[in-house]
Order: sequence, then structure tokens, then C-alpha cells
Amino acid sequence: MSKQNQVTLEKIVSLCKRRGLVYPSAEIYGGINGVYDFGHLGTLIKRNIRNAWLKSLQKSFEDILFFEGSLLAPSPVWEASGHVQNFSDPMVDCLNCKHRFRADELDLKKPCPNCGQTKWTEVRQFNLMFQTNVGAIQDKSSIAYLRPETAQAIFINFKNIISTNRVKIPFGVSQIGKAFRNEITPKQFLFRSREFEQMEIEWFCNPENAINDFNLWCKARKEFYASLGLNMNKIRLREHGKDELAHYSISCTDVEYEFPFGWKEIEGIANRGNYDLTQHSKHSGKDLGVFDEETKQSYIPHVIECSVGSDRLFLTILCDAYTEDLIDSEERIVLKLSPEIAPIKAAFLPLVKKLNEPMYKIYQDIRLLGYEIEFDESGSIGKRYRRQDEIGTPLCFTYDFESINDNCVTVRHRDTTNQERISIDKIKEYLKNSLK
Ligand code: ATP
Repeated sequence: MSKQNQVTLEKIVSLCKRRGLVYPSAEIYGGINGVYDFGHLGTLIKRNIRNAWLKSLQKSFEDILFFEGSLLAPSPVWEASGHVQNFSDPMVDCLNCKHRFRADELDLKKPCPNCGQTKWTEVRQFNLMFQTNVGAIQDKSSIAYLRPETAQAIFINFKNIISTNRVKIPFGVSQIGKAFRNEITPKQFLFRSREFEQMEIEWFCNPENAINDFNLWCKARKEFYASLGLNMNKIRLREHGKDELAHYSISCTDVEYEFPFGWKEIEGIANRGNYDLTQHSKHSGKDLGVFDEETKQSYIPHVIECSVGSDRLFLTILCDAYTEDLIDSEERIVLKLSPEIAPIKAAFLPLVKKLNEPMYKIYQDIRLLGYEIEFDESGSIGKRYRRQDEIGTPLCFTYDFESINDNCVTVRHRDTTNQERISIDKIKEYLKNSLK
């Protein structure tokens, strides 16, 4: 790719806005920093990402349960988990321009990137959790927090989960849901936002198998990214140094992607040991151990966690798919999404409005099969192809004047723009085979 055709975050943001994938939240009121809304096509992509993730779990391991925890939890949960004490980032303010920064992302000996002065406040720890009060009385006992990670709801339900499902260690609990972090500097669009979605799996295992299972999960997660069609030269696993580990972690490996702004984490795979269940046992006074029938001993299971942000993955997928190329010496933008992730699987286009009726009938027939497809009659055929290219639609079917006589349509392939003619009664089979 030549330099001018390089993917930039600006290009992705602009495409998202232009095609209605993502909007800044509360825009008509001036917006809210680090919060986004997803439009029609963005919502479809998110849904496809979730489904792909769920499918990958089923493929990797047996015995994975589903779970949906609440977003709010009372203060004792976050005291036990260590988040009240430890879930903070170091913060520093420029005394001159009052800009706020994460101290670990700055060299404080250098001038302020905003105003060029070198006068800083002391570095303070800033807790990232959003605090609120539940109920009408605002005192210490009513303090609750919006969850900064989805995992804790699973740990505090551990007894409920094992007593109501017929599972034995090892097993996993998966969850997709929102998390909230009052990031000091939300940035890089969906990469670091204040409200985001996580897709997490908590894998409960015997302490003796934890390292082995951790390695199996690392392998499985890498396979997931390959299955999404991502460029695997831009994916790597990076083990955390001891100084980087979160307060609960024994070891951690990040899956990283090479974004236009550098190599960054997209998923954390952590060996959490028995930290969480032990903490919640201690603080709640409830035994969260399990009994091993073979050894006749009780123990607290260890946990391997794989946690990926769906919004961050959304951005990853767009960066990876975004392509600018020349078709008949005309520049086009195309999203080379895998068919599984593409929001619209196929477009049905009458060459001219006069041919709407027969094409609309074909479209209705296919739509009832449950495919996410579009009928588009407006504008020149070239313009309609460009729009479908930009939103990543793998196939366009076009009905032209010849179709009336030969009962065929033209199929156009997004990536190559090659066209072929197929019989109308073969469209269903063609779609099925192409979208596998
Ligand atoms: P980072 O170092 O980038 O802040 P983290 O190590 O704090 O991330 P985890 O707590 O491991 O992140 O969260 C798991 C996943 O949740 C991350 O890999 C990322 O995909 C996603 N995630 C975390 N924070 C955010 C955020 N502010 N905005 C969007 N996604 C996020």
C-alpha cells in the first residue's frame, strides 16, 4: 500500500460517520467524551462479532455456560475484588493549561504536549470506577459502582452456577455485556472509551491444570482472530512483565494488533489464580470452594480469563478491512470484511428503476430465508456498487434488460469486482456457498 493509501484512524472515523456505523453520543448537545452510539450497520457488525465470538467458544471447549450479570453492584463487591483500592491510573495536570494526562503515558521532564510549559501537579491515583448511590438515601451504605469489568458478577454467583448446572471442573462461563471506566484520557475513537462492551470467558480449573489450560486458551484465541480473516502478520501474543500485571493476575498474555497508531492490546488472557474466589469467600463469609470426589479434598478453583472488548475488536476489524484501490482508474474505498462479519451479505440492484419489480420479488424471496440483504434502486449502478463496497457487502446481484429473456442476473464480487452471470433459481445456493 502506498503511503497516501495507508489506513488512518481519521479515515475510519469518517467512514463510520458517513455510512452510519458509529455516531458520537449526544452529538446534538455537544457530545459526551468517550461515549459512542452504533447505527444500523454498526449494530449489525457488532451482532456478527458477538456471534463469531460465541461460535469460537463452542469450537474450542466443551462445557461453556452463558451468563448475564447486572451492571450495578454494591460497594462490598468492589472492595473484595480490590477495585476500590487498586483500579486506578496515575493522573497529572498541567498547571499552566489545566490539561489532564495519564502520568504513565508522559515523560514529566518534557514540556506539556498541549501548551509547551513544564509545570505539573503531583501525580495522583485516579479511580476509574463510576460511583453512584442506589435508592433515595445517599450514604455510605448505598454506594454502588457501574462494573468496570464483567467478570465479578460471575465470581459472586459461582455457588449459584455450580449448584444449578450440571457442570464439573473444568468448565467455563461466558458473558457479553457493558463495562464502564472513567478513563482519564479516552482516545483513539472506539479503542479507549468510557462505556464499552466486553466479551469474557472465565474458565474454572484445577490449580494443577491452570498453566496447561492457559496455554490452550492462548492458542484457541489466536485461532479465533485467524477465523475472522484478520491479517495474522498484524496479530501477536505478548506476555506481560511482572511490573505490568494487574493486582489479581499471576500471569497475563495480551493479544495485540498493529493499529495505525501502533501495536496495542485487543484481548487480555489472564491467569487469575484463585484470587477472586478467595477474596469473595473471605469478604462474604461464604465458602466458594469445590469438592473433588476423586481426591476427597476441597479446593478453590483457579481461573483463566479471556477478555476482549467488542468495540475495540470492531475498530480492529475495520482497520484491517479498510482498503483503497483503483478500479478502471477510479479510486474506491472497500471494506474487505469476512462474509461472517459483513453487515449486509448481498445487495439486490435493478439496473434501472424500470426493472424494480422483478428484482424486488427476488429480493423478497431471499430476505425471507433470514439473510441480512439490501434492495437498492437509487442512483447510478456505479454509485450503488461504491456504497456496497464501502460497507463491505461481499456480493451484488444486478438485474438488467437481458435478465427478462435469459432468467439470469449478474453477480459482482466485492474484492475483485469480477462479474459472472448466474441463473436466478441458483441465487439461494450461490449465496449459501459464498457465505460459508
Ligand atoms: P488497556 O491496557 O488498554 O487499558 P486493560 O488491560 O485495562 O486495557 P482489561 O482490563 O484486560 O484491559 O480489559 C479487557 C479488554 O477490554 C481489553 O483487552 C480491551 O479490548 C477492552 N477494554 C478495556 N478498556 C477499554 C476501554 N476503555 N475502551 C474499550 N475497550 C476497552
